[in-house]
Amino acid sequence: MKNIEIDDETCIGCGQCVEICPEVFEMVADKAMAMNPERCDECDINEAVEMCPVNAIRLGE
Ligand code: SF4
Repeated sequence: MKNIEIDDETCIGCGQCVEICPEVFEMVADKAMAMNPERCDECDINEAVEMCPVNAIRLGE
């Protein structure tokens, strides 16, 4: 399981990560949250990281 962190201060709530990885990300009060990081194998998390316009998503092990 990957450790997915979203910088709350940086996230602008564009929703792109939710569109790319709906299994993992959810919008909560206009910010993205990684609600189901264990499901990250089912989608392309690297694409979500790359597509985030403000680089708010970080991956750890
Ligand atoms: S793609 Fe980035 S800025 Fe957009 S909602 Fe997700 S974390 Fe926030």
